[in-house]
Amino acid sequence: MPRAVLTADSSAMHQFIGALYSGFLSTFPRRIVQDFLFKHVICRSVPANADGTTDYPILSLRAVEAILRNDSYGEGDVRIAHPHHVSRVIDSKTKIVGVSALDPLGIGPATTSWVALWGGQPQNRLKFAALMHRIRRLKERHGFKVVFGGSGAWQLEDPNVQDYYGIDHVLVGEGERVIPDLFNELESGSYSGDRVIQGLPARETEVPSILGPTNTSLIEITRGCGKGCKFCSPSVAGRLRSFPLEKILGDAQAYLDRGIKSVTIQSEDTLRYGSSNLESDEDAVLTLYKELFKLGIKRVILTHASMITFAHQPDFISKLTKLIRKHGLPGYGCQPGFETGSGRLIKELMPNKCYPRDPSEWPEVVKEALDVMHKNRWLPCCTLVMGLPGEDEEDIRETINLIKSLTHHLAFFFPLSFLPVKHTALSQSARCVREQMTVAHWELLEVTWKHNLRFFNKAFGYVAEGRFPLMRVGLRLATGVFGSFIMQTLRTRKKEAEKAGRN
Ligand code: SF4
Repeated sequence: MPRAVLTADSSAMHQFIGALYSGFLSTFPRRIVQDFLFKHVICRSVPANADGTTDYPILSLRAVEAILRNDSYGEGDVRIAHPHHVSRVIDSKTKIVGVSALDPLGIGPATTSWVALWGGQPQNRLKFAALMHRIRRLKERHGFKVVFGGSGAWQLEDPNVQDYYGIDHVLVGEGERVIPDLFNELESGSYSGDRVIQGLPARETEVPSILGPTNTSLIEITRGCGKGCKFCSPSVAGRLRSFPLEKILGDAQAYLDRGIKSVTIQSEDTLRYGSSNLESDEDAVLTLYKELFKLGIKRVILTHASMITFAHQPDFISKLTKLIRKHGLPGYGCQPGFETGSGRLIKELMPNKCYPRDPSEWPEVVKEALDVMHKNRWLPCCTLVMGLPGEDEEDIRETINLIKSLTHHLAFFFPLSFLPVKHTALSQSARCVREQMTVAHWELLEVTWKHNLRFFNKAFGYVAEGRFPLMRVGLRLATGVFGSFIMQTLRTRKKEAEKAGRN
């Protein structure tokens, strides 16, 4: 009988449709991604075992499981429950239910952007509320404590919100150094600390390998960043900490044991793995890839990478590209932060993003980086931030002009709404919601979506290299329908902003 049960809602615990980035779709409002589509196509649930557990949870639950098992919890003492079957896993012996979510209230940058466009309730908020409703009813019967943790924890620091969802404690930040004592004290009833617990950054060697796979085949390779951008939560976690190869290979083995040979390495700046400064350590990254391939991993997909690495260290990129290509991956995505086309905003809010170049050179760095990506067949999904504190019309126009100058680059651009994340330097600033968005913001969205829609089909062909012809036809049709819908909505929103005089 488990002493601790861990779970997350179905907007996170689903089978991603082919790529990690499809997880973005769970941030859409229900009026666009309706329940049937959510349940049966976009966010199909991870498989559940007969006892209500799942073998494919999100990474944060696997991380907590590993921390507890590394402490005093035996194999049966901690279980990961499927969100639809928590009642089959939780029982009278359960003392703690741990819940995790990325964006529990549906106020994250991606969610806010979609809601600004279409309005309505985002699926991630609805699914979190549904899970907490189920847990609250079980809590009334069994009397366990509910602890929330994960990257969305800052959203739940308000005691009224905690009461609303039936949450006893919220753990903000990293858990390795606090979870063992916290869980033991909660179990024994001796906990006398605050309701909100501040985690502590773990040392590199304090993070154990996960004990089983995750739904997105993620392997965490670093934490923190060290570049100190004022709007960003990883900047709060301090310097970049790279985990030892031994821990990473342990994670990879957990996937190989289940026959999974394609993994995604998770980092705020993947290509700075092993670096002790703000530049990339070429040897450390190449060694990491080589060791993963040697272990039996066939595909190593990455998430975030910096523009400056591509612009400043192009030889390293071409070496890495050759290595990846040698292992059969035809094209590779990455998610760099483009943020803005304004050198002034870069200098004021994120000067180290451009290091070792001068922040005023940022627009040039972006162009050079995209050139290097293009040459090496990397496909970037670039995120931008709209409504940064201090942003004026000229900044937005500079961004629009920069995007327009990149017409022939194979890249996607996703402007997201600025969010004042708690504990960051800009936590007191205003959120960028539809009512604040100016005509120029809607023009920026029009320019980027026009660009994206032109490239959707080309990008698929690029990555698939002539394979999957039927899928290409389907994608073309879907892009046409979605494209005319989104462009029409953007025109409507722009007219509303003009009418309201938000110039
Ligand atoms: S470089 Fe990226 S991850 Fe690092 S602080 Fe800036 S925005 Fe955050």
